[in-house]
Order: sequence, then C-alpha cells, then structure tokens
Amino acid sequence: MIEKLRQRASTFPERLTRGEKEALARLAKGQSPPFMLITCSDSRILPGRLLEPDFGELFVFRNMGNIIPPIEVEKKHHTGVGAFLEYGAGKLGAKHLIIIGHTDCGAVKGFLNPPRESNGFVPAYLRIGEETRRILSEKLPSLSPEEQVLEGVRTNILVQVRRVLEYPVIKEKGVRIHAWLYHIDSGRVEVLEER
Ligand SMILES: [Zn+2]
Repeated sequence: MIEKLRQRASTFPERLTRGEKEALARLAKGQSPPFMLITCSDSRILPGRLLEPDFGELFVFRNMGNIIPPIEVEKKHHTGVGAFLEYGAGKLGAKHLIIIGHTDCGAVKGFLNPPRESNGFVPAYLRIGEETRRILSEKLPSLSPEEQVLEGVRTNILVQVRRVLEYPVIKEKGVRIHAWLYHIDSGRVEVLEER
C-alpha cells in the first residue's frame, strides 16, 4: 500500500508540467496565497481535486469536523486555528477563507452522539461540538437519523462561520468568508453562506 504512495512521491517531478515547474521555481522563496481553506480531515475530501488550486494559491488547515474553536477556547488551548488565520490573513495576505464541511461527517456524528467513554483525545475533542449539539437539540427529535447528520453538518458549518468572525484578523484584513457543503455521494458543492 505505502509503496504506491512512495512511488508517486518519488516520480512527482516527472508529472509536473513546464508551467508548474516554472511556478514552483518562482515560489521556492515564498508564498502569498489569496485563499485560505479550513476543511475536515476526512479522506473523501481531496482539496487538490475539488478546487484544482495552482501551487501557491491555497493555504490549508484541516481538522476533524472543520472546527474553528470559540476564540476564548483558542486562547487557552492553541489548536493551531488561530495561528493559521493570523498568519494566513495577516502575514501572507489571504483575502478569502473557505470553510468546507461535508455529508456523513464522522466528527459531526460524534458531536450528536458523544461516545460514552471519557478517556482519550477523541471524547475530549468532541466536547468542542457542544454548541452544534445544543443548537440542534430542539430540531433533532423530529428528524430521521440521516436527516440529523445532514442538519448537524449544516449547523456545524454555520457555527464555524459565526465563530471565525470573532477572530480580530478577519475583520482587520477584510477577509471574505465562504461556507460550503460538499456532498460526498455526488461531488456537488452547495454554497451555504458567503459574507
Ligand atoms: Zn468530517
């Protein structure tokens, strides 16, 4: 299994076009990506395929559930999201932040039905979804399990949009926010909010 990836990595230069090689040579000393992306760690999301960015175009942060912690949590725990936003928008000059959540998200399922055990990093991490669960708790009983996950995914994305606006660099740099929902079964991308 790993041989396949090692082989691809070692032959990467051979697969580059002439234009890409020139771009990389230019980029070797620095980057100024116009776009930041926060998306889920899920293996079914391939940002390179989905957005087809050029080299140097997309500054990326991934975590389970495409979470942007409330700023007070970030100040205490330093998950990396705050540094990513500050560096991306502040130092690198990115003007757009795209937040992409997706259907069948394992993290969102975990937010909705937290595991019973309390040891380990995963249960601790899932507590960060408390707000998503709280917002949904009134709607959930009337929905089927599948609808619950889809509604959870939508709500979770919109919670992140609201939270990211609390990070000073977003307002200071006038960063535009784009919240998208990626449907894994069809590959369709649904725009939830742009601001
Ligand atoms: Zn996910």
